[in-house]
Amino acid sequence: MIYPWQQSQWQSLQSLYKQGRLPHALLFKGIKGTGKYDFACHLSHSLLCNQLDAQGQACGTCSACQLIEAGTHPDLLLLEPEAPDKAIKVDDVRELCHEMQLTSQYGGIKVAIINLADNMNVNAANSLLKTLEEPTADSLLILVSSKPHRLPVTIRSRCQSISFASPDSRASLDWLKSQGLNNPQLYLNLSYGSPLAALQLSENDGAEQRNTLINALIDSATNKPIVEHAEQLSKIHNENLLNWLYDWLTDLIHIQQGSELETLVHADKSKELNLIAGKISLKGLYLYMDQLNLIRRAQSIPMNAQLLWEDLLISWHQHIKL
Ligand SMILES: [Zn+2]
Repeated sequence: MIYPWQQSQWQSLQSLYKQGRLPHALLFKGIKGTGKYDFACHLSHSLLCNQLDAQGQACGTCSACQLIEAGTHPDLLLLEPEAPDKAIKVDDVRELCHEMQLTSQYGGIKVAIINLADNMNVNAANSLLKTLEEPTADSLLILVSSKPHRLPVTIRSRCQSISFASPDSRASLDWLKSQGLNNPQLYLNLSYGSPLAALQLSENDGAEQRNTLINALIDSATNKPIVEHAEQLSKIHNENLLNWLYDWLTDLIHIQQGSELETLVHADKSKELNLIAGKISLKGLYLYMDQLNLIRRAQSIPMNAQLLWEDLLISWHQHIKL
């Protein structure tokens, strides 16, 4: 499925394809949660389908489409790490490259997609170089990455980049509503404008988790920080919480500087934000932000989440002037 915000990328690739100018290697880059991987799959399906419809979309019924549906099309290769925080192994990349060198089994194009491509370490990425420099005819390699700067420049420079920017908020809100989401604006705010991340967040009780954080902050502002809050927070995905805490601090700075309500991430908590904004100095906010940034930068190091939140709540309490 092409998402409504991906039309221009679709049109430009279709036009390259019709002119026979589709490159051998593409890099789909852009923020997380806009559907780059889905797009890569959709494009591959349309390149492998035997009877495209008038819009250039895969028919879904031919023998090639059926093999794709079953995940067994021999000319479509997919590679991704075992988990988002795991590396893509060099041996897996080598095997993919080897298969790309073989002629396609159905006589058409051969497509390989590497999802979360920036999870390749330098060795794994370098093993792609030969395939990029000497591609076999009728082959397409698609790298999908939301952190393309992590890919070696030797790789990036050999791919044609296609950018997937964050869709405009109207398009995202309409789409989220069409998916039956209540309160799409809140979820979009909490997901940095990324509609698929917003949808996923709503399915994982994201608003509830965010409220746990806000309640802990409000309570710890006036009362001595309570271990139970830290305990509750330690059970929630840390990266989201730390990002939302950062947004909470920038919201407070915005309020102190008289910004409009619409600019706030936690706009639905403007009453609470206004209350706190009068009780913390700008200097205090920046100091607390420094502390938070140190933690965010050290996120790859395993941390005891309970202790981390106890520290953060105690420090928060100390910065508030009652
Ligand atoms: Zn088909």
